[in-house]
Amino acid sequence: MAKKKSSKARPSKIESKSRKKSVKKKVTKKKVTPRRSASKKKGSMPSGDPQTEYLKLQADLVRRWSYADPLPEVTAKMASLRPALDLNWLATIRTCTTPPSPVDVASLLPEFRKLARTTVRLNPRPGTNEPEASKIGGLFLWPQDEEWPSCKEHDSAFVPALQIAKADFPEVEFPRGADLMQILWCPNDHEPGYCPDVRVVWRSRASVKKPVDKHPEPNTEAGRFEGYVPQPCRLYPERIVEYPDPFETLPKGWNERLESAPEVASALAANTAQTIGNWSDHGDADRLYQCALSTAEGTKLGGYPDWVQDPWYPKCQCGRTMEHLVSFSSWEFDGETWFRWLPIEERDVLEGEYEVRNRVQNAPKWMFGDAGNMYVFVCRICPDWPIVAGMQCS
Ligand SMILES: [Zn+2]
Ligand SMILES: [Zn+2]
Repeated sequence: MAKKKSSKARPSKIESKSRKKSVKKKVTKKKVTPRRSASKKKGSMPSGDPQTEYLKLQADLVRRWSYADPLPEVTAKMASLRPALDLNWLATIRTCTTPPSPVDVASLLPEFRKLARTTVRLNPRPGTNEPEASKIGGLFLWPQDEEWPSCKEHDSAFVPALQIAKADFPEVEFPRGADLMQILWCPNDHEPGYCPDVRVVWRSRASVKKPVDKHPEPNTEAGRFEGYVPQPCRLYPERIVEYPDPFETLPKGWNERLESAPEVASALAANTAQTIGNWSDHGDADRLYQCALSTAEGTKLGGYPDWVQDPWYPKCQCGRTMEHLVSFSSWEFDGETWFRWLPIEERDVLEGEYEVRNRVQNAPKWMFGDAGNMYVFVCRICPDWPIVAGMQCS
């Protein structure tokens, strides 16, 4: 799919959508070196073992946090401990808790009830795990006697992008006999979508008797498209109820009713009160719906696509509209959507150094166009489940 220009339809919305994607990066780049915890020192156990302390604060934050009272004193303490945390330890104990919707959409707009869908936010964060685990990048479970895909056009091996184990995602329909979904791509732009050439492999874990212990390296000569080569991440999945992106056709009058609702006014007030530095607020009910009440930000399975431009649901060769399988997102949250989509445990990164924040906001270090999304659709009716990928960016 060609990158559509924003002059097409509904100019005000498109303009605001591109505003949504215009996060401003703080460019302070100071390396944060993880120190081993103070408890490793000989002698008495200091009162403030940073990791124990951090866990206590985190548990407290998740228990008591609300939009009205986001406990800035607790996040400030967590931020001060963060440089002392062992990142490998953090990867093993991490939880991600996306806050609930600040407004109960289904009770305010009853006709939206039937539009609700559940997506699985994958919440990727840096880390490695076993070959058969659900993950982004890293080592996939791949049999030695099966050729790893490569692209002739770009003289490059494909890269491992996303691996999903059925056991972790019971809501995802797999073909009979398969229990592992593997998404790989050529890390270069391909026609017609001007995005990576995506391949989806469904396999059975038990059938892989002799797995490989590494994959061929992609050709990233001259630094081209390194943004399509993900860094290894673990996943911290969460189920989220979504409503359609405002670019889709919605029941009439929804925005007027949101505008006049007192709970929307208090959500907007809370949003404004928490806005700091370059993290901007939503301004009005329309933006609140777009940024915080409708589609989840970030890389996710199923649910509604978070469109950057006009909705685009591809048709399969059989004539059916294809299903949204997965969205790959450049950012897990941005300059406006942080209010809803930054997990509670990680609220301290808004004021943190660039590197600290980036490990949350863009852990795989991938980039789809100018901070856009890449969508993969599937037809589960046709044999071999054909897929189509497309990208949208601002
Ligand atoms: Zn290629
Ligand atoms: Zn089909």
